[in-house]
Amino acid sequence: MFKVCKEITFCYGHRLMSYDGPCMHPHGHNGRAEIHLKGDTLDGRYILFEFGDLKEIVKTWIDDTLDHRMLLRKDDPLLEPLRKLGEPVTVFDVNPTAEAIAQKIYAYCREKKLPIEEVRVWETESSFASYRE
Ligand SMILES: [Zn+2]
Repeated sequence: MFKVCKEITFCYGHRLMSYDGPCMHPHGHNGRAEIHLKGDTLDGRYILFEFGDLKEIVKTWIDDTLDHRMLLRKDDPLLEPLRKLGEPVTVFDVNPTAEAIAQKIYAYCREKKLPIEEVRVWETESSFASYRE
């Protein structure tokens, strides 16, 4: 079994609904995603998955979908005013936690047929959430 991992950094704002704590207020993070791929078969170059290709596929999507955007739950009242102001928002069905972000990135990797094993999202230097199936 071989594994490769690519790190992708991005900045995002969010807030958590139905939550009593500092994260109930809009704030931001310098986040870091780890994209873990695994497989038993290497290509003719002895490579599981080209790092450059992985970066191109996933970083482009993260840049468009998560980077420098407000991530909000679909019923967050901030959604409408931010949209009216033309601010970039990404809507989640659930609270936009590190867990939800990891799950969203995982789903995209799955959709792109990457041999995805796990996605980790570091919300701070000391805290990450991961998703795998
Ligand atoms: Zn937060």
